[in-house]
Amino acid sequence: MFLYMDYERNTITEQIVWQIIAEEPDFMDIRVAQPKICVLDCMLVKKSEGRLVFADIKAVPDQYKVLCDMDYIITVYTRNTFLLTDEQFKILLEHELRHIEIKNTKKGIVMGTVGHDFEDFYAIVDRYGMEWSKCLDG
Ligand SMILES: [Zn+2]
Repeated sequence: MFLYMDYERNTITEQIVWQIIAEEPDFMDIRVAQPKICVLDCMLVKKSEGRLVFADIKAVPDQYKVLCDMDYIITVYTRNTFLLTDEQFKILLEHELRHIEIKNTKKGIVMGTVGHDFEDFYAIVDRYGMEWSKCLDG
């Protein structure tokens, strides 16, 4: 079996991602830059330091953009997320989107990602409660 068969594009989740971007005031820079965001469902179980990983996001490196016309790939680990409610799933996607960092530089717009910072962490805890801090690694 080829490894890539464990991944499948999910355009329905991509639509949810753009709904969240449209509704969340913090995502103004994403609305302006309009990055190409692809969502992949992954059937593999992913863990990090013993915890289940629900999703992650990666900026596509420039040399890969030649082959794949995308700026970001969000991977959803569906064997870990299938028990989440629709609302929890949206919170997860919003969390992943908060890793997007778009910078205006002299060379143009640079699309990258940032790790977790405290502001991000407290924003989520304030809004969704402490138990979410455990769930939202990734
Ligand atoms: Zn995260």
